[in-house]
Amino acid sequence: MDRFATYNEPLINEIEKSKKGICKTPNLLPSSLKRKEKISIPNLDETQVVRHFHHLSQMNYGIDTGIYPLGSCTMKYNPKICEEIASWDEFVNTHPFQDESTIQGNLQIMFELERMLCEITGMDFFTLQPAAGAQGEFLGMLLTRAYHEQNKNFDRNEVILPDTAHGTNPASVAMAGYKLVEIPSTKNGTVDIDMLKNALSNKTACFMLTNPNTLGIFEDEILEISKLVHKAGGLLYYDGANINAIIGKERPGDMGFDIVHLNLHKTFSTPHGGGGPGSGPVGVKQKLEKFLPIPRVCKKKERFFFDYDAPDSIGKIKGFYGNFSVLLKAFIYILMMGRDGLKETSEIAVLNSNYMKEKIIDKGGYELPYKKLRKHEFVLSCDKLKQEKNIRAMDIAKRLLDYGLHPPTIYFPLIVKEALMIEPTESESKKDLDRYINVLIKIANEDPNIVKNAPNNTPVKRVDEVGATKNPILTWNMI
Ligand SMILES: *Cc1c(COP(=O)(O)O)cnc(C)c1O
Repeated sequence: MDRFATYNEPLINEIEKSKKGICKTPNLLPSSLKRKEKISIPNLDETQVVRHFHHLSQMNYGIDTGIYPLGSCTMKYNPKICEEIASWDEFVNTHPFQDESTIQGNLQIMFELERMLCEITGMDFFTLQPAAGAQGEFLGMLLTRAYHEQNKNFDRNEVILPDTAHGTNPASVAMAGYKLVEIPSTKNGTVDIDMLKNALSNKTACFMLTNPNTLGIFEDEILEISKLVHKAGGLLYYDGANINAIIGKERPGDMGFDIVHLNLHKTFSTPHGGGGPGSGPVGVKQKLEKFLPIPRVCKKKERFFFDYDAPDSIGKIKGFYGNFSVLLKAFIYILMMGRDGLKETSEIAVLNSNYMKEKIIDKGGYELPYKKLRKHEFVLSCDKLKQEKNIRAMDIAKRLLDYGLHPPTIYFPLIVKEALMIEPTESESKKDLDRYINVLIKIANEDPNIVKNAPNNTPVKRVDEVGATKNPILTWNMI
């Protein structure tokens, strides 16, 4: 590659010379570890380097580029002011082991954020420690076990899940050592009360549910569900990933849930996707408080402190006290939006979702299984397109890339054939929603060969996703 000339020898010599004057450290590297050949680094001027990286950044796609309607993920716009404040020196340069007296402000933010999350969810106490929703679920399972063991209920080893559950739910249940009991949904896409009754027993530790569920449907029998689970002696766990649909309207605490996790990176303003950091605080009702992880953030006479004095605590679930920068952004976001703003956010998220759903269904072959009003997301089936034109959900997702649009979540939830799971969020304008709707309908009517070969104009064509997972190549210059 001619772009990579050998290194700039005169310049390196200059640096070496100048170093000799200052650097007195003896050469500690054993010669066996020393490079024998000159390294090949690009010989480029600054303009070329800037253009190269700028070009790479333009190939990237994020919520700042366009709509990102990834169902279940709540890819909303994250106000830049949250990023800006979170990058202030006063926050960035604090260390987790700093003396408490020097981080009173940080502690106050954590303390107040816990109170805010209690108010939003209707729970009594929160811990901010878990680093993601999935870790919150796992913590929820550990709290469930601690609770039943305290009540000498050692036989409760089953956790019930509906078949619409997110993949992390069964994983967390299994990781915590519980037996998984899956129940099928009704033809309306909600919890089947009879199936639940059959599954409940004196072995039930917990029923885990998200509401609205992953089809975007509100479980309107939730109070009955809560009654049944509690009568059987189980706890009710709320997967809060979908709470963007109901903030200011409904609270899991009022529905009867005992344990709740929130995904701050989804609902409360932290850019996510492609990894962390995330935050999955867990809220509980009073009866579970004493099992929460340590330390708790407490306040005594206007002084904030970490409280480790909790003999029944399950211990620690994560190093330190949670991902502070994500907590901080959630705190700023909640303060900025206020009670009415958060409520309006949910209303618009639901409105956008239902607007898109109504405009797309039964046009071009997209069908809506389970005829019910949706909340913040909806799931279409492309099964008819598959039968008639051999176009699959995957092909539509790839073809959307040709139009510069991010695809929705596909093939989830598992109970919908050829699923497209669309969550527009509150961030999108009607114009952007209309464009997405029109492109989806257009794709359904295109020459199937073009759709099947998509993407046609992206830098990378269709990749072998299974191969990439099974046989990852983790170095950039492997030959
Ligand atoms: C995202 C999500 C989770 C897992 O949350 P993470 O923060 O990604 O670990 C759990 N349940 C549902 C419904 C989700 O959408």
